[in-house]
Amino acid sequence: MAVAGNLGFPRIGAGRELKRATEAYWKGELGEDALLAVGRELRLRHWGLQRDAGLGAIPSNDFSFYDQVLDMACVVGAVPERFGWEGGPVPLATAFAMARGVSGPTRGAGGEVRPGTEAGVAPSGVPAMEMTKWFDTNYHYIVPELHRGQRFELASKKPVDEFREAREAGFDTRPVLIGPVSLLLLGKARGGAFDRLSLLDTLLPVYQQLLAELREAGAAWVQVDEPFLALDPPPEGSLHDAYRRAYAALREAAGNLKLLVATYFEGLRENLETALALPVNGLHLDLVRAPEQLDQVLAHGVPEGLTLSLGVVDGRNVWRTDLAAALEPMERARKALGSHRLQVAPSCSLLHVPVDLSLETALDPELKGWLAFARQKLDEVAVLARALNEGRDAVRTALEASRSQVEARRSSARRENPQVQARLVSLTSEQARRRSPHTERRSAQQARLGLPPFPTTTIGSFPQTGGIRRLRARLRRGELDEAAYETAIKAEIERVVRLQEGLGLDVLVHGEPERNDMVEYFGEQLEGFAFTEHGWVQSYGSRYVKPPIIYGDVWRPAPMTVRWITYAQSLTDRPVKGMLTGPVTILQWSFVRDDQPRSETCRQIALAIRDEVLDLEAAGIGVIQIDEPAFREGLPLRRADWAGYLRWASESFRLATAGVRDETQIHTHMCYSEFNDIIDAIAGLDADVISIEASRSGMELLDAFVAFRYPNEIGPGVYDIHSPRVPGREEMEHLLRRAAQVLDPAQLWVNPDCGLKTRSYDEVTPSLRNLVAAARVLREEV
Ligand code: GLN
Ligand code: ZN
Repeated sequence: MAVAGNLGFPRIGAGRELKRATEAYWKGELGEDALLAVGRELRLRHWGLQRDAGLGAIPSNDFSFYDQVLDMACVVGAVPERFGWEGGPVPLATAFAMARGVSGPTRGAGGEVRPGTEAGVAPSGVPAMEMTKWFDTNYHYIVPELHRGQRFELASKKPVDEFREAREAGFDTRPVLIGPVSLLLLGKARGGAFDRLSLLDTLLPVYQQLLAELREAGAAWVQVDEPFLALDPPPEGSLHDAYRRAYAALREAAGNLKLLVATYFEGLRENLETALALPVNGLHLDLVRAPEQLDQVLAHGVPEGLTLSLGVVDGRNVWRTDLAAALEPMERARKALGSHRLQVAPSCSLLHVPVDLSLETALDPELKGWLAFARQKLDEVAVLARALNEGRDAVRTALEASRSQVEARRSSARRENPQVQARLVSLTSEQARRRSPHTERRSAQQARLGLPPFPTTTIGSFPQTGGIRRLRARLRRGELDEAAYETAIKAEIERVVRLQEGLGLDVLVHGEPERNDMVEYFGEQLEGFAFTEHGWVQSYGSRYVKPPIIYGDVWRPAPMTVRWITYAQSLTDRPVKGMLTGPVTILQWSFVRDDQPRSETCRQIALAIRDEVLDLEAAGIGVIQIDEPAFREGLPLRRADWAGYLRWASESFRLATAGVRDETQIHTHMCYSEFNDIIDAIAGLDADVISIEASRSGMELLDAFVAFRYPNEIGPGVYDIHSPRVPGREEMEHLLRRAAQVLDPAQLWVNPDCGLKTRSYDEVTPSLRNLVAAARVLREEV
């Protein structure tokens, strides 16, 4: 019998219970026991949901109060010294301190570590551990800190405790662990580089002990996640040998406990042999991202005693599964192995999709019929397993319902806009290229704008005060009419323009007071986008996002930003910079339709942005910025796939921007980026000016531009906006001098690292004053 399984369920709760509870706990409004009770309530609820859906393999230890990698670091006792942990179970407050840092005095009166208040900001406290993106998702994990000679111990027994808790409540679960090899590769070497895998031998005994305890507690299976098995090999060590050693050790300790190794987000490719040779009982394959690997695995031959877990329901997207199509590869696998050696599952943990579609009461029924969130995906998995076991006839109704939905979606008029499609077909390469090379454009822009050397500007947003947020909320609730809202926003724009004039900035912005979120704002005004009420997905800790859903052809029915930008421009003689979000970022931060290539959807968004760019230009705006902070994060997980992505991503940016005249200056902005390995693609965007985050790295991020002899203009951030600290003039002057040493001073712009919306005016105003002063000092010298 094929078992219906799951790799992980969203932990946040359908009503975002986890967020409310953890935040209340951090504020001191909820005690630890009450917080623990909320966690327990959520776990029990989710186990119940999965059992009711008919799942045979239900995960435990997929719950976390913050992050599963942080939890695993606590399990193995990888707690950095600065958090003052002295062995034994890691207290919840310590785990939160690791995630969020501790501000102010590190210890309370009783000597206990105090939970932090603001992540990473701990001038006199303890800095948080780093956080980074979980593969190519928008989930962020806490990066374990590893140092040479590190010791591990079984410190927290969360996986065992949660298994027991489930068992007592009548659920036989399959605990989820992050595998030893992946845990080390997720970590970061501290105190000098070294081969992280050299820690394997000291780490493995802890895993052995953990497996022994799980076995004693009565677990039959354990899911061990090794996502790195589906990635390019890291530069260090011998990976094959590491997996071999690790799983020999795990096998030895597991006894009759069965191990399922889970891979996801990519295919095994060159690691196929290694994966199939592991002494384990199950192997999970992501057949949504890498469907081709099933036949490769079957052709290779599946060792006797190895069960395959077929990840056929998309755990990364919100579309309803085409059940008949999903069954085809499953039936091939059944033919080769028999159903008793198969499991059916989502492609990866359901952490990356919203909890429950049935909560969406405002979505229209047609669109709703195309979607499936975590709960609905459980039902799909159960139906597919049943079809495998009992034949298609046993689930005929479900198959028919699925087929009619698939057909309805395929033939729905609302998905299509023939004009958009025709426009895409007739695209020419000229449309994605500026008319003249940058040197010529530069003189035309200089003649028009007349900017001084080291021109100053900001990245777009100004502080989003409570007053601004309330304005937007009141408009949404209908408490404020359009006219009153418009007047209030215009007043805010005027204030921000006057402030910038007073500070002496050269290229001004309108401050983005009308925007909630840089993708949502545009999505709401574009066709082809839908928004949910409850479609929250965890981004990190208690931060959740509600990505828009791109379901159809994208186009722009009307100008989106022109009235605000032209209003700002009407107030001043200085140039005001139009501010747009780029096509790649809009794509990257949405749930994207799966019925056409992502590149196609990206081009459609690009055309919509192009229309906006041209309208801004026609309205007299001479400087236009198209933000692409997610350009780098769109890179595929496998390097072999990079070139293909970079080609269409860069073409989309150029399509959005290249329609303007030479004298119109195009800016772009990117943050949280490394540029070394994509610098040619960045140069290929041919933006007149790029601003990047650089201050925290002491301008190190500029190296890539220097080595490449980057030809266009560049504004390396000199003001770290992630910190409340006000940088002094000398400090920024120093950073600018460093930049001016390695690049032509004529290329340089002076700006902060990113938008200012999360900061307050008492931080921003003096910081910008110092920034302008620093630019003036350098200006004097040329
Ligand atoms: N223009 C945006 C802002 O200033 C850019 C945000 C970003 O790069 N993430 O807020
Ligand atoms: Zn930014």
